[in-house]
Amino acid sequence: MRIMGILDKSRDRCSICGSKITFPYRLDRYGIPGFVCGRCYDERLREIYGIDLSIRREESKKQGLG
Ligand SMILES: [Zn+2]
Repeated sequence: MRIMGILDKSRDRCSICGSKITFPYRLDRYGIPGFVCGRCYDERLREIYGIDLSIRREESKKQGLG
C-alpha cells in the first residue's frame, strides 16, 4: 500500500549501504541514526553479538585452561 510521496524519503534509504529499504529497521541504540535495511541490520547485529560471543569464548577458554 502506498501513500503518494508524502512519507519521509530518508526512511526509504539505508543509513549504512544506502540501498532502498522495503522494511526499515532501527539501530539507533547501537549508534546508527535513521533506518537500515534488513541485511545491514542482520550483519550489524551479527557483528555486535559475534564480537561479544568471541570475547566470552576467549575468556572462558582462558579460564578453562587455567
Ligand atoms: Zn543496508
